Amino acid sequence: MRFVLSCRAPQVEVATQILRALSMEGLTLHAKLAAEGIDTGFRTCGRLEVFGTMAGLEKGRLEAAHYVATTALRAEELTPAEALCLEPALNGGLVGAIYYPDETGCDPLRYVQGIAAAAVEAGVLIETGVELQALSRQGRRFLLKTSAGTRKPLLTVMATGIWSAHLLRMAGIHIPLEAGLGYSIDVANARIEPRTPVYLNEARTIVTNLGGRLRLVGLFVLGGRKGHRDSGSVRRLFEAASRGIQGADEWSSARVWSGLRPCTPDALPVIGSPPDMEDLTIATGHGMLGLQLAPVTARILADHVSGAPVTELIPLAVDRFRSWPQL
Ligand SMILES: Cc1cc2nc3c(=O)[nH]c(=O)nc-3n(C[C@H](O)[C@H](O)[C@H](O)COP(=O)(O)OP(=O)(O)OC[C@H]3O[C@@H](n4cnc5c(N)ncnc54)[C@H](O)[C@@H]3O)c2cc1C
Repeated sequence: MRFVLSCRAPQVEVATQILRALSMEGLTLHAKLAAEGIDTGFRTCGRLEVFGTMAGLEKGRLEAAHYVATTALRAEELTPAEALCLEPALNGGLVGAIYYPDETGCDPLRYVQGIAAAAVEAGVLIETGVELQALSRQGRRFLLKTSAGTRKPLLTVMATGIWSAHLLRMAGIHIPLEAGLGYSIDVANARIEPRTPVYLNEARTIVTNLGGRLRLVGLFVLGGRKGHRDSGSVRRLFEAASRGIQGADEWSSARVWSGLRPCTPDALPVIGSPPDMEDLTIATGHGMLGLQLAPVTARILADHVSGAPVTELIPLAVDRFRSWPQL
């Protein structure tokens, strides 16, 4: 059984406000990590959202007005000529664009490597290639069966993305998660590279220059499994890019990656401990925002495990889906 990502309008508004507040703190913390010398590829790069239809542009204007009103960040509507002047790699055929000059980005791989290196330097022991196979309750503690033996930790933090649902079910904890499959394609042979990240609104596709490689990201398909590859989806992403970016009809892929976004029914992450299980902390369900929210999630987790009261945890509570049907 699949759940439907549909909340009523007031719930959507509340979820949007919570995510925006978390994202704004995430932005500050991403900048702080970079300022501390952790190489995550963090930069202010702006984002140019390009529209091929008036209906799309109208919707984009509303979103931009909401963004400006709630974040104090800037958004500027551009005519097609102004957009082409800012980003000469665009194709014609757009009806308008909105430029978000304060948008930031980082490189996901560099982020993970940078944070891991900083953690190791701080004395953390990281074991890679170890699979958690089962978990069960033994007295007041969890017993973890892993491919490297059995562990009985003082504290377990479960941050295993979409796989958290299955793993937690073994301990009787029910979190309805659904995979949102998406693709990330590194382009092999771009003759003309956009300088600014370009979001092709109607195609829900983004083209980002990561400095030395061009990345095409898109698609959100509910369901899917790890390592899924579908040549039709990859082709559709290239077609979408070629409607927006010059020369994209000649692109080929150097690397195709598909990933599973861990999505919750109310679009909010799940962070915290199940009732009466203080030795287990969960962080999952970040959907499309896991990288953006990574540092703020870490801050909330750190406060939570050190016993500080964390007001943010209330709407993110682990047991908020207890009345949901088991998937
Ligand atoms: C195409 C695409 C583009 C995206 N773009 C963005 C973006 O621009 N900005 C953004 O903020 N987010 C983006 N996301 C979303 C982001 O990638 C996710 O929200 C994020 O990866 C979720 O992080 P996570 O740590 O919860 O789960 P994951 O990243 O899925 O990590 C879970 C980890 O747990 C490990 N694991 C699973 N089971 C076990 C087990 N039994 N034992 C041991 N380890 C296990 C997995 O191997 C994996 O390493 C994108 C996602 C996709 C697919």
